[in-house]
Amino acid sequence: MRWSPLIVAVLLMVCSAELLAESSWRVGSDFAVITPEKSMWMAGYAARTKPSEGVASNLYAKAVVLEDRQGNRAAIVTLDLISVQRQLRDRVAKQIEERYQIPADAVMLNCSHTHCGPVVRSPETVITDVDPEKVRQAVEYGQKLERVIVELIGGAIEKAVPSGISFHRARAAFAMNRRLPTESGFRNSPNPDGPVDHDVPVLKITNSEGQLTTILFGYACHNTTLSFYEFCGDYAGFAQTELERAHPGAVAMFVMGCGGDQNPYPRRTLDLAMTHGKTLATAVEAALETPAISINGPLDAEMRHVEVTYADPPKREELESRLQSGNKYEQQHAQRLLHQLDTEGHLRSSYSTLVQTFSFGKNGLALIALPGETVVDYSLRLKQEFSHRPVWVAGYSNDVFAYVPSERVLAEGGYEGGGALIYFTAVLHPGPFAPGIEKAIVDSVHESLKH
Ligand SMILES: [Zn+2]
Repeated sequence: MRWSPLIVAVLLMVCSAELLAESSWRVGSDFAVITPEKSMWMAGYAARTKPSEGVASNLYAKAVVLEDRQGNRAAIVTLDLISVQRQLRDRVAKQIEERYQIPADAVMLNCSHTHCGPVVRSPETVITDVDPEKVRQAVEYGQKLERVIVELIGGAIEKAVPSGISFHRARAAFAMNRRLPTESGFRNSPNPDGPVDHDVPVLKITNSEGQLTTILFGYACHNTTLSFYEFCGDYAGFAQTELERAHPGAVAMFVMGCGGDQNPYPRRTLDLAMTHGKTLATAVEAALETPAISINGPLDAEMRHVEVTYADPPKREELESRLQSGNKYEQQHAQRLLHQLDTEGHLRSSYSTLVQTFSFGKNGLALIALPGETVVDYSLRLKQEFSHRPVWVAGYSNDVFAYVPSERVLAEGGYEGGGALIYFTAVLHPGPFAPGIEKAIVDSVHESLKH
């Protein structure tokens, strides 16, 4: 007998639906509101002159715990906050390992980089020349946040059910490169000719009834539509809200990509933040309509310590002359470096950061979690170099210590190439990184994904 094309099509649909519904994972997710209960100093713009004044939208911490058939587990935490400090991550990951036996190396913290959240500080990174009340608030918030994250993992584990996971992609185009070449160097301004990564990677997690329970989605773009004095998750927050409204009961989690040199345009109004959020949520819905790439185990999480080195540090005389600079941030930075020279005898020559990978089966999805404010060249390059498998490159993960320029951006200079380092206070950077930073990071990813 001959099979009619219709029957074949129906059979194929049934088979692929079965394949998708196959619950080879146990997955649970949970969320908590982390909007400060009272007014606090806000992160993101050094020029802020007063603390927050109200709440435009709530900020969330969210967690998903994945467990494969062999019992390998990973926890991914997303935060509507400006950054993740290494010390906070290390403490949280250690507690998660002790309490829930999820390896610390398999715990990923990613921040949405909203510039409308509170300043968060680890006690180890407190600098003494800042208003003590500001510091006290930021440390207290950080300590509370640690407890919330650890509890969240427990909540996610409790909610875990047999699940299927699939990977999807679409695109959204509101991110534009923000490094505009001019005669006097690169200016922070929209550059329609600069590189972008418009991918919207999506992990769809469904329970054994096929209901959507958790959705992770990413985008490579600064979460900086807004710069006002209200707490707000910006476009990434609105995209999550939009998806959760469209899929009642599901937890939507935003994972920031390599958006260090990307901005949302146009910007500066709450309406635009909502519009960009809606655009991103629509792209996620579009991704869900694309053919599913089924995600299978075994899950292999790896974390590597990567040493990135600085270019030759400034001499004492140079720092002293910077004290006369017209730029108060440059002055302050020089002052701190001089203080470090006086008390420790030398400046940092390198910094050790964290590069993490999650491999879902041989040649299955690779989720690469890069540290810092990673520029877009990293995701473009890694997706090309691992083109034989689905790849998701996240930035802003585990240790947001500085802008992380590519070799190109480092050579070009400008804000992301080194100019912004004076604004980072959790790590005191002596100056720009030395050439080789891109190689050190990319090599470690290759090393981790070798097997
Ligand atoms: Zn930034």
